[in-house]
Amino acid sequence: MMVSEKSVEKSFASLHAPFIMNAAEADVIRALRKKGVISRTGISSITGWSKAKTSQEIRSLIGKGYLVEEGEGTSQGGRRPGLLRINDQLGYLVGLDIGATSIDAVLADVGGKVLQRITSPADVRQSPEEFLSHCSELILEMVTAQACRHDQILGIGVGVPGPVDFSRGVLVAPPLMPGWENFPIRSFFQQTFPTSYVVIDNDVNIMAIGEQRAGDGIGVDHFIFIKIGTGIGSGIVSNGKIHRGSIGCAGDIGHICVDKQGPICRCGNTGCLEAMAAGPAVTEKALQAAKNGSSPLLRKMMEDNGGFLGPEDVNTACREGDQAALEIIRASGQMIGDVLASLVNFFNPSHIFIGGGITNFGNHLLVSIRRAVLRRSLPLATTDLSINFSRMGPEAGVTGAVALAREYLFIVEGQPTFKV
Ligand SMILES: [Zn+2]
Repeated sequence: MMVSEKSVEKSFASLHAPFIMNAAEADVIRALRKKGVISRTGISSITGWSKAKTSQEIRSLIGKGYLVEEGEGTSQGGRRPGLLRINDQLGYLVGLDIGATSIDAVLADVGGKVLQRITSPADVRQSPEEFLSHCSELILEMVTAQACRHDQILGIGVGVPGPVDFSRGVLVAPPLMPGWENFPIRSFFQQTFPTSYVVIDNDVNIMAIGEQRAGDGIGVDHFIFIKIGTGIGSGIVSNGKIHRGSIGCAGDIGHICVDKQGPICRCGNTGCLEAMAAGPAVTEKALQAAKNGSSPLLRKMMEDNGGFLGPEDVNTACREGDQAALEIIRASGQMIGDVLASLVNFFNPSHIFIGGGITNFGNHLLVSIRRAVLRRSLPLATTDLSINFSRMGPEAGVTGAVALAREYLFIVEGQPTFKV
């Protein structure tokens, strides 16, 4: 982790460090980020500084344009104190959540407030140049809609569906998108947005960050966010921080083996959780049930669909009481739950949040996952364990991408990256 953070620091220093400040100024910014708005006295009481020193640091930050005064607070007996907040007009941040088949993009102010949002279909099997040019066009569309300039974009946070070497900002051996191996995503975006720094992370990590900043993960220090869709992955928040591991691929649970005799996974191994329980596996089993006569309903749906079934069809069949569909969803939930049980024993989270397309399967999936986790985890580890679907839906990814960009907005001179 230390190695990784140091190399992150180096790579950001060699890019655009957006706002470089001294340690005292950073203390003020940190207090403001925690509180939103705060009085001078509030800053003194957090930092322990004299009135004179507090005023001096604040003057300096207002002079640089980082802070603005806003209204007046409640009087404690004397003059009503002037309130301060970070200047939202410093510029803009972009959050991109790149999925296998779609892009969610938002333009936000530096406070993280979303101003523009676009969703566009896409295909990550395209070349990275083609795909990222499309992303740049979407950002420029939002810039036009916001009537701002592209050189006002200060930071871009990007989530991608594959293993990311976080310090270098590149994908390494991504099964979904082999053409992206080591592609320099940062410098590609910087050709169009030269004033912007770019932070790249795994798609599930940004969902975990989103859940932590704006979802039910607020104030939760130890949790796992699991995404179940075309693939399966997880983001780990430990001690209130995202845990990326030494290189950045922590949490890649989709390739844990659940059955050595199982089908071949897209990673090349056999019987990975993803190959057994994610969307395509569910669909494959449904097709078998349709063909072998165990589900007349799925067979009819397959015939009506021209020989095709999607995960949503399995969901529909299950809701209509189809036993085969129900069993397929239950089996998927049980395999995911068995793997999660090991993670619970290993990591002892207080919460597990489940997101991704498969959450449409609703209660049957959730109950099966819960049951498997409770059956196979240590009783102490599950005493206060909550397992629920994330309520953020597609907002988790983009919210996290903006939050990630926001973390690197202020850099403390000579120190590792400044994060709140
Ligand atoms: Zn695999």
